[in-house]
Amino acid sequence: VNEKEKNLSYTLQSWVTECKPFAKDGRCATYIPALMDSNPFDLGVCLLDSTGIKLTAGEWEKYFTIQSISKVINFILVCSHLGISTVLDRVDVEPTGDAFNSIIHLELHKPKKPFNPMINPGAITVSSMIPGNSSSEKLELLIQFVEKLIGKRPTINQEVFESEWETAYRNRALAYYLKEIGYLYSDVEIALEVYLKQCAIEMNTVDLALIGLILSLDGFNPITQKQIFDKKIARVTKALMLTCGMYNGSGKFAAFIGMPAKSGVSGGIMATVPPKSLMSKTPLNQGCGIGIYGPAIDDIGNSLAGVMLLKKISQEWELSIFSC
Ligand code: GLN
Repeated sequence: VNEKEKNLSYTLQSWVTECKPFAKDGRCATYIPALMDSNPFDLGVCLLDSTGIKLTAGEWEKYFTIQSISKVINFILVCSHLGISTVLDRVDVEPTGDAFNSIIHLELHKPKKPFNPMINPGAITVSSMIPGNSSSEKLELLIQFVEKLIGKRPTINQEVFESEWETAYRNRALAYYLKEIGYLYSDVEIALEVYLKQCAIEMNTVDLALIGLILSLDGFNPITQKQIFDKKIARVTKALMLTCGMYNGSGKFAAFIGMPAKSGVSGGIMATVPPKSLMSKTPLNQGCGIGIYGPAIDDIGNSLAGVMLLKKISQEWELSIFSC
């Protein structure tokens, strides 16, 4: 670890300490019973940049279920298999301004397709499109794709999956409605099982940071030196993350933090920062990915302390995509 990395890590640790108390205004998600057991005051972060810098602080090593962050992964996977245009015929790329699990505008949108793949209806549609004849075949394809991204086979937290499966009334309602309007491409219960199991995939902040870094590099994995998915898919995904990734908090997040990011109700956030121009004076100007974990969430479903920490990182190190 060189001097630069040491200083940056030290600074990051001080920001984690500063941001932890913000968790007191949030709560761990309760509608998925198994998530209630998390410690609301955990706050962890990992930042990986394309030159090999790795910064970590707080509870960065803890594993948690990625929940909605999986919506980025199934979208990229399905685009890679079916092509962007087929996928976008079936799910739009427009923000909603509604909660992530809202049902209200699904019927009003014309054409009726779900607004975007970063909210539940769109993500369930996308999961129904994963190639495979059974939920286990579909899931296996997804798991293998995750392995290409993070370099290891992830586990699915069975307890979290079961606890959500048994109480997924709203997601079931969304899925059955999608089937009725012709925007579900498998059996309803299969789509739901795949969707809820992908939400229960476990990662830590390092895994999230690596996926963020791969997105920053337009699909290139700097560790395996392989192009994992197409550049064009990376660009659509980042646009979706910026406009819809933090749900109905995406506007403020873009204005004050300015990074394509995706959150999940378990308190994870995966953010991606593209390389900056050579003129940039930021210490991390060559592109990076950031993984965050802070399980106390706000009313919208975003990690409270996690968002504060990202704001600090973005503002102090000038990482907003809107800064030059
Ligand atoms: N599994 C969760 C759900 O479908 C994911 C939602 C989220 O992370 N916002 O409700």
